Formats: sequence, structure tokens, C-alpha cells
Amino acid sequence: MPSRSALFSQRSLILALLILLACGFLATSLLGYFSSRGAIRDGIVNTELPLTSDTVYSEIQKDLIRPVLISSMIAQDTFLRDWVLAGEQEPERITRYLDEILSQQNTCTAFFVSERSHTYYQAKGVLKQVKPDAWRDAWYYRVRESQAPYEINVDLDMANHDKLTVFINYRVLDYDQRFIGAAGVGLSVESVVKLIDAYQQRYQRAVLFTDANGKVILTGSDGSMHGLRAGQQLADSRAFETLLARMPVPSPGSHEYQDEAGHSHFLNVRPIPELDWYLLVDKRESGALDRVRQSLYLNLAICAMITLVVLSLLHAMVKRHQQSIESLATLDSLTGLPNRRSFDLLAGQALQQAKRENAPLVALLIDLDHFKLLNDTHGHLAGDEVLRQFANVLQGSLRQSDILCRWGGEEFIVLLRETEGRQAIDVAEKVRRRTEQLIFSYNDQPLRLTTSIGLSALQPDDSLHSLLTRADHALYRAKQGGRNRVCSEMPGAVHA
Ligand code: GH3
Ligand code: MG
Ligand code: MG
Repeated sequence: MPSRSALFSQRSLILALLILLACGFLATSLLGYFSSRGAIRDGIVNTELPLTSDTVYSEIQKDLIRPVLISSMIAQDTFLRDWVLAGEQEPERITRYLDEILSQQNTCTAFFVSERSHTYYQAKGVLKQVKPDAWRDAWYYRVRESQAPYEINVDLDMANHDKLTVFINYRVLDYDQRFIGAAGVGLSVESVVKLIDAYQQRYQRAVLFTDANGKVILTGSDGSMHGLRAGQQLADSRAFETLLARMPVPSPGSHEYQDEAGHSHFLNVRPIPELDWYLLVDKRESGALDRVRQSLYLNLAICAMITLVVLSLLHAMVKRHQQSIESLATLDSLTGLPNRRSFDLLAGQALQQAKRENAPLVALLIDLDHFKLLNDTHGHLAGDEVLRQFANVLQGSLRQSDILCRWGGEEFIVLLRETEGRQAIDVAEKVRRRTEQLIFSYNDQPLRLTTSIGLSALQPDDSLHSLLTRADHALYRAKQGGRNRVCSEMPGAVHA
């Protein structure tokens, strides 16, 4: 049985190795994970999101900035101003003019509203009269009062299948800088919306436009980040709570924030000065890092498996090593029989059991005769060989349950379990006879040997010591009696 200190040191060795391997594997896995994560975050913040911004920005430039220029051109056109100042004669002239703009500039609408007559002219003719109390005409009265030369209004174009349209409403001034009406064009922003949709779906990043006050202006066709829709404020989404606590309106640059569910986001904000808008491109961290995280888990699982295999191999090796050390400590190295140390243990148990069960038990003390002479005559190595061969004879003459040990030198002890005195004498006789008859050999040299055996049966008040002392007395008598014989000693009676 392994000693407590051996067990302890074995456990602490395995524990130390476990800690070492776990720390090593964990450190390398986490190092790899964090460096990949850092690289991916850098890629998102410094490349991916700005690149998306750039692409969307150039698209918006194409779609939105061009109409501003066209509208400015109309507002400053001398033909238009002269025609208004001359009293808006022959409306078909302005209609043709607007129709020309429409077809040449590929816009979806071109218009002029006169301040003097409140007439709304468009490419197909006079549309209507604008009225201060009509909500659809509110834009005109807003532009009329505005200090800015124009306003951009993203709206559904009722006259054009409800298409999402951006209207540029430019103030038209006469040569004395007096307000004489509003002119401009409307352009579909479908291509921008399509681009937003593509980015949102394909690259799992959200794109939207806000004005300078954080009001959402343009989103993808099926909504935008955190469910925001055009017309809403960024603050309407709880996801932006932490970000807006840091900055009331999105400021240009890269930001990191956590939404209401605790997910980390990267946000790139880019101003569009031409429109006084902001372009927001947002990406959730977890989506981007899923693969890195998965490879971390896989890495850790492989490391755990390697640790487990290494530790079980080590455990098996230590166990085998320990077993061989233990057997070295309990077995006699020459004969392979149990030594005196293990005999004490086995004999103590056998005696207790015999007494508990009131079962007979007999001790045999066996000594080889004139062994010194054999050594002297044939050499110590011959003696060793004879001892080995005799141990085999002894083992072959006994049952599995009997306890056998090399007591020391050329002396052996046998405990015969559940064996009465008479049967024991037969066993001892068998050993003696076999030894006498066997021709031992060393280097093809025949050697003869006899043995003397002292025998004693267990008595109720016996200790191992008293039992063996009686067996020793019997052996003594066997030697005295001329050797090569079996003598037994029972308390109160002496048998030859
Ligand atoms: P007796 O018949 O009275 O027992 O005589 P003996 O010579 O057998 O007894 P004695 O005690 O005088 O000598 C025992 C000898 O056994 C002495 C010792 O050298 C030898 N011996 C003890 N252990 C070993 C061993 O492991 N190998 C060998 N070769 N000889 C051993
Ligand atoms: Mg002896
Ligand atoms: Mg002897």
C-alpha cells in the first residue's frame, strides 16, 4: 500500500503539473485570442467602418450633392428671375424650362413656387396654389423665412409613387436680394438606401444618417440600427444611452459603446458638411469576434484534452513505478517470495482471522541443512541458485492461501491456513521428501539438499511470537535429531 507521504507527493506532482500545463495553455490561448481580437478591432475601427463610410459618402455625394448644385443653378438662372419679375407671363415657358431640367439632369422632379402668385409650377404644368394652412406646403413657408440659402427635405414624393425623395428647396432672390419664390429639384435616394441595405445585410453593420441634432434622416429600407426609423431621435433608442451620456450628439470619429443588452459596438461617425448631416456606421463586436471566440474555445478544449492525456499517462507511470517500488520493498529480491516485513503484516492478519473464526493454523519453520557446507563447497552463487530453486519447490508444495516468506538466510516460514496438525505434518513431510529427492543443479552440476522443519499449531492464547518460538524449538529438535526431518511442538505435548 502506498504510504501517505508517497500519495501526497504523487498528488502534489500531478497538481503542480496540472497547474503548470493549465497556466501555460491558458496563457498561450488567451494571448492568441487577445492579439487576434485586437487585430480584428483595429481592422474594424481603422479600416472596415471608415471604408464603409467612404463608400456610402461617395454614393451620397452622387445622389444628394448634385441636386443641390442643380437647384442653386435654377435659383440663380436669369431667365427664371426675369420671367417672375415680368409677371409670370406664359406659364408654359417655365413649364418647358423645368421639363428641360428634368430630362437633362435626370431628376425625378423640378419645381418653382412663386411668392407673388403662390403658384406651384412643375415640369408637367401648374400643380396647385400653395397655402399657408396646408401642412403639405409648410416647407415653402419654412424656406421663405429661412436665413439659409436652401434646405434639404427627405420625404415621400406623393406625385412619384411615394418614392423616398430628397427635395432641395432653394430660395430664389431678385436682383435686389428680395425673396421671389422657391425652386429646386427632387431626387430619389433609392441607390443610397439600397447601398445601406447591402451593407446592413451582407456585412452585419448598420448604417444611418442623422442631422446635426441627432434626428434620423435616412435608414435602410427595413429600418436601421436598434430599430430606429427616419424622423426619430437617436435618444429614442435605449441602445445609445451610454453613448449619448458621453456626447449629446454624435461627434465625428470612432467610438465604442455598450447597448442596453450589454453588447459592445463600434461606431464610426462621419460628417457630411455639404448636407449638414452625419453618417453613422455601426458594428456589433460579438458578431465580428465570434470566429475568434470559437477558435479560443476549440483551442482550450484541445489544451484540456492534452492536459488530461498527459496527466493520465503520468498518473499511470507514477502508479506503475510506485508498484514496482512497493514490490521491491515487500518481496525478497533473490527468491521473489514475500520478505519478513510483508510476512509480519500477512501473518498478523492470518492470526487474527484464525482466532476470530476459531480456525486451525499451523506454522512451519524450514531450515536448509548444512547450507554453509554447500556454499563453501560450490560457491555462494551455487547457494543462491539452490535457494531460488528451493523457493520454487516450496511454492509448488503449498496452496495459494498459505503464507510463505523467506525469513532470512536459508530459513523460510510457512503459515498453513485452516490446516489441522496432522495435515500440516503431511505438508511438511511432502516438502522434506521433495527436497531430499530433487536434484538441484548449478552450472549443470547436480546438488543434493535436505531440509529440517519445525512445526507448531496455533493455540488460543498464542501470539505470532509464541507460535514461532515453539516452531523454532521444534526445528531445533529436528536439527538435533539428525536433520532431514519434521518435528512438531504442541503446548503440553511433544511429538517427533
Ligand atoms: P545447519 O544444518 O545447522 O542449518 O547448518 P547450516 O550450515 O545450514 O547453518 P549455518 O547457520 O551455519 O549457515 C547458514 C549459511 O547460509 C551461512 C550463510 O553464508 C548462508 N547463507 C545465508 N544467506 C545466504 C544467501 O542468501 N545466499 C547464499 N549463497 N548463502 C547464504
Ligand atoms: Mg539456518
Ligand atoms: Mg541451515
